[in-house]
Amino acid sequence: MFQRIVLASNNAGKLREFSRLFAARHIEVLPQSEFAVPDCPEPHCTFVENALAKARHASRHSGLPALADDSGICIKALGGAPGVLSARFAGEPKSDAANNAKVCTELAGRNDKSCYYVCALVLVRHPEDPQPIIAEGIWHGQWQNEARGGNGFGYDPHFFLPEYGLTAAELTAEQKNAVSHRALAYAELLRKIQAA
Ligand code: IMP
Repeated sequence: MFQRIVLASNNAGKLREFSRLFAARHIEVLPQSEFAVPDCPEPHCTFVENALAKARHASRHSGLPALADDSGICIKALGGAPGVLSARFAGEPKSDAANNAKVCTELAGRNDKSCYYVCALVLVRHPEDPQPIIAEGIWHGQWQNEARGGNGFGYDPHFFLPEYGLTAAELTAEQKNAVSHRALAYAELLRKIQAA
């Protein structure tokens, strides 16, 4: 289908994960820093729109097919918030502890603690691709006020998984990578690439 794609992210961890994933398909994943891609605005209220904007932007600046992701947590009792604002729910400077404290405060006294992580992945073959390949992974859990576990990042210490009796931060990296929203989105993306 193609031999090289650019990843619309400056996150070294994501570059490693995607490179490993695409190596099996003999596709080389290049960081957008190689093409001096400027920051892309993420003005949209859905994960998929923001991922699409980032993928188009990276493709335009690199001249290559581009892959972008966008992810976050949605809490049902908060109408899906923090959603696309997950990284900075409590404002600047970006802080996981402040974000988690804000969710605990806003959920106080609410019965419905259900929440889910979302990961949207978008691959465009070129900036005007009329049919981007879009994959989405959703991982359900329950918000738990008490933080537990030292693995993972972000909201993981409060993201309780009834089927394990553990929070996402108590799972090993291998366990999380096998079942997370990102894992589900990766798997769907690969299925769709193979079928394209
Ligand atoms: P990004 O789009 O992957 O940079 O994620 C945006 C934000 O969503 C992060 O800064 C976290 O606050 C939250 N988030 C996304 N995925 C996870 C996860 O797997 N665990 C915990 N928090 C996450």
